[in-house]
Amino acid sequence: MKKRISILGSTGSIGRQALEVIEKLNDKFEIIALTGGSNTELLNSQIKKFKPKYAYASDISAIEGAEPLSLEEICSNKENDIILVAVSGKIGLRPTLTAINNGIDIALANKETLVMAGDIVMRKAKEKGVNIIPVDSEHCAIHQCIKDISQVDKLIITASGGPFLKKSIEEMKNATVEETLAHPRWHMGRKITVDSATLMNKGLEVIEAHHLFNMPYEKIEVVVHPQSIVHSAIEYVDGSVIAQLGLPSMHIPIQYAITYPQRYEGIKSKSFSFSEIARLDFEEPDWDKFKALKLAYNAGKTGGSATVCLNASNEEAVFAFLNGKIKLFDIINTVEMMMEKHKTVSNPDIDEIFDIDNEVRAKSRELFLQLR
Ligand code: MG
Repeated sequence: MKKRISILGSTGSIGRQALEVIEKLNDKFEIIALTGGSNTELLNSQIKKFKPKYAYASDISAIEGAEPLSLEEICSNKENDIILVAVSGKIGLRPTLTAINNGIDIALANKETLVMAGDIVMRKAKEKGVNIIPVDSEHCAIHQCIKDISQVDKLIITASGGPFLKKSIEEMKNATVEETLAHPRWHMGRKITVDSATLMNKGLEVIEAHHLFNMPYEKIEVVVHPQSIVHSAIEYVDGSVIAQLGLPSMHIPIQYAITYPQRYEGIKSKSFSFSEIARLDFEEPDWDKFKALKLAYNAGKTGGSATVCLNASNEEAVFAFLNGKIKLFDIINTVEMMMEKHKTVSNPDIDEIFDIDNEVRAKSRELFLQLR
């Protein structure tokens, strides 16, 4: 039996790689729907090749070869066994909740879903018996390591350290967009690449891990590991540590998430060799240089709407940085100032979450005018 899958965000970095995996495993999958944003040309070429029944794009009149449906309609379609949520940003949240409400399993590559509404999303998933399988390489690693969560004492999330690991704070302050986007290990979208340079990405991942594995923040540790071979690890109560290793390729976690619980050769290109890798380094993160990490932990521990504020102010600031409006360190300054001003709402519902998100974004944009 083929697994029936839809991909939200098939034209993005994760979506394109997912289609490469599916191409290799074409006898295992049937594609129900593909969705894109403004790149309808690429979406249409994907439709031609993979023949989904349905599609969605920001301009639905431009879709050729598939029946246009809204994201909500796609996510409430029970023909789906699993939906890969690979859109970037807050537009992933409502469709994911719709899919969960309809009992459809989720392969989750969208961080905002859990950072903005982790409590609601995980509660709903449990209630509906829906599996949320993480695509993010760190969480995918932890998912693979865990046999019995009740016996896990600590999650250890690895971070490559990004392009500024060996640079001084001064050099980082004056970094250009180009330097910031030159990630040494991973080729990803622009927003997440900036987040990887400030280590905000790791902070968001800590929050994601807290929700996915129901682990208190005190028991989630970040360690810098520049080679990106150990994708994360867990420590059991008896001190035994299980780590997941592999070459740094997003194809592996994507394939794992969409084929779970099965494994296939699929996209594998070469066998892993310890002697070729030769050495693995680990070090504590520099908390002064990467203040974003501390801010994320604080927001997570505060809970409620604090992580909504963290995410919204960071995203607005990253866009402002990419557009040359503010400097790299102003991203973190913005987040810090917004977090200080924020009045936390303890159990926001989805509408409140979006209201707070909009409000924080508007206030952040006002702040950029002063920072210039
Ligand atoms: Mg990651």
